[in-house]
Amino acid sequence: MRLLNHDGRLTLQTDDERGIDVNRASDGAIPASPIDAFEQWPALVEWAGVQNCAADVEIEDALIGPPSPSPRQVIAIGFNYASHAEEAGAELPEHPTIFSKLHASLAGPYDRVLISTECVDWEVELAVVVSRRARRVAAAHAWDYVAGFTIGQDISEREIQLRPKESPQYVLGKSLPGFCPTGPALVTIDEFADPNDLELACWVNGEEVQRARTSDFVFPVPTLIEYLSAATELYPGDLILTGTPAGIGATRTPPRFLTPGDILESQIEGIGSMRQLVASDPAAGRSAVGVAGSAE
Ligand code: ZN
Repeated sequence: MRLLNHDGRLTLQTDDERGIDVNRASDGAIPASPIDAFEQWPALVEWAGVQNCAADVEIEDALIGPPSPSPRQVIAIGFNYASHAEEAGAELPEHPTIFSKLHASLAGPYDRVLISTECVDWEVELAVVVSRRARRVAAAHAWDYVAGFTIGQDISEREIQLRPKESPQYVLGKSLPGFCPTGPALVTIDEFADPNDLELACWVNGEEVQRARTSDFVFPVPTLIEYLSAATELYPGDLILTGTPAGIGATRTPPRFLTPGDILESQIEGIGSMRQLVASDPAAGRSAVGVAGSAE
């Protein structure tokens, strides 16, 4: 099934233009809020399998929010494609590189990206949404803990990301407001012929900048869930951004970054596409930090 957060209500997508309001169609059995629905994931799956309701929602792109609007945790993986590790001059990792994106970065699939600096970069990524609490889950059982996939962009402010030089801490540079758009749909795993092999791509102003397949992952999704849940706990609705392939802007010669007016498009096979207009942050200049070169 394909689920949307449409105008803040959980909506089962039936085709490109229409969907079913899950709360109304289930006579209130399934919560309207996509946040609450993750807590009742088995009931939602069961209802969706037997429901026979008519579409009652006209889908409007402007009303689509992130499929998991308020995850307890957004976990992101670095260097999960050999091609990206190579362009960044990194060795293939023995263990996954783990960081987080803070809550302020969450955004919908068509929201504008406001920028105020000159080194904002793109990273198209497959995003995993967790369906239930996961602790010490073996890779062989990991798919049982996945609600589905959506598209993610790990938008990154490279200058902030690489501070301080001696021990860069990715979190802040990847957590500017709106820097984690996801969507449009959450697509359950049964919809994919092979969930371990999906093509993903990214364009800036119509020019292709990234294209790869998730079969090139250094650490496939089940391995990531085993690794993460061995150390910590995952919760329903949590997002795992699985890493970006080659083609980011920072490692180009010369480097290329997003500028106001740019259109950023991200696409993953079987999910759809996401589109952001990059715009100048009207509040820029009021902050003492965050502008390249002015923080020290
Ligand atoms: Zn990333």
